[in-house]
Amino acid sequence: MQYRQVANHSPLSILGFGCMRFPKNGTKVDLAETEREIRRAVDSGVNYFDAAYTYPGIEEALGTIIERIGCRDKINIATKLPHYLIKSREELDKYFNTELERLKTDHIDYYLMHMLPDTDVWNRLKKMGIEEWIEEKKAAGQIGKIGFSYHGNSVSFCQVLDCYNWDFCQIQYNYMDENTQAGRTGLQYAAARNIPVIIMEPLRGGRLVSHLPKKAAAEFKKYAPDISPAEWAFRWLYSQPEVTVVLSGMNSITMLEENLRIANTARIGELTEDDHEFLREIRDIINEKMKVPCTGCGYCMPCASDVDIPGCFNAYNIGHTDNYYQGYKAYIMCTVLRSKKSGADKCVRCGRCLPRCPQGINIPEQLAHVNKYYGNFICRFIDWIIGRMYKYQ
Ligand code: SF4
Ligand code: SF4
Repeated sequence: MQYRQVANHSPLSILGFGCMRFPKNGTKVDLAETEREIRRAVDSGVNYFDAAYTYPGIEEALGTIIERIGCRDKINIATKLPHYLIKSREELDKYFNTELERLKTDHIDYYLMHMLPDTDVWNRLKKMGIEEWIEEKKAAGQIGKIGFSYHGNSVSFCQVLDCYNWDFCQIQYNYMDENTQAGRTGLQYAAARNIPVIIMEPLRGGRLVSHLPKKAAAEFKKYAPDISPAEWAFRWLYSQPEVTVVLSGMNSITMLEENLRIANTARIGELTEDDHEFLREIRDIINEKMKVPCTGCGYCMPCASDVDIPGCFNAYNIGHTDNYYQGYKAYIMCTVLRSKKSGADKCVRCGRCLPRCPQGINIPEQLAHVNKYYGNFICRFIDWIIGRMYKYQ
């Protein structure tokens, strides 16, 4: 494993374990499989594990496995405060103590404000006394480093970075988002201040691998047949010295082994100018096809009208990056074959999901497009037939 060290931090493995996508058995974390993966990751030198209060069952699973393996002193636990749920200083302790309990630990090495959108939100937390609270927790050894995760634009990112004495930050960054989100501007702004940058969504929720337009997939094969699209995405990140850790949601041993291989062999500055130009061409091809820049993070859920928002957008994008029928199949799977229908037609435009989307997607407006795309007479008739078949099974 390779490590990168910034300022007064201890060395961090360049590959971090994004725990949100632990292997599942139905809706529950598959503890046996997850333990197998974590053992292998720890034995291979991965020392950064990223969780969050709001990922269902993840903190508990991570805590249980770390205790079983007995590796607490070898790894850094990162987890996040759901500040948007907090209304008083007392609640800061309540949520933090719950996280310690779930993780079966007495301290969090890397603690983040989850999805801190702007300085206004930080000022609201300041009024509750969060700065003093952080100082107390640090002095007591309960918090090692303090940071924030971020999904907005680069201007606002730089403002948030400057509004407190942060130890580290976490941004969405990949070759598609080089000039969106915090982007390269934000990455370099943080690095210039000696602030480690943890990268999330290196594959944009898997979209840079699993739903590539056929033309893009063919270009990858033509340019370098032995290098997968995922490997390109990781090598693009590792080649930049400002990147500290790249989080990957590894939900199989095969994926873990592949990511370890890449992390062990990647080099700063290894991509040539031709490689960068190639990835810019790939970006243009993907942008041509993708209709909604949804990463599938699910922060917009639940919807009060039961719309499966990420499911609808995923199907809509597949309809454009792959083909209409593949997309329609995905749409049926996630909206019709459910106990409660959850299609785009159910959106009542209440707007409650809007502030929760880190990608700034106008969800009701885009759902209207999805509804138009999959809501023609033939589709509605198929929905009706499948719905009846499903009902009478
Ligand atoms: S705007 Fe539509 S999708 Fe969003 S929460 Fe309201 S009903 Fe659900
Ligand atoms: S619409 Fe926005 S919040 Fe919802 S899953 Fe997509 S990116 Fe995430």
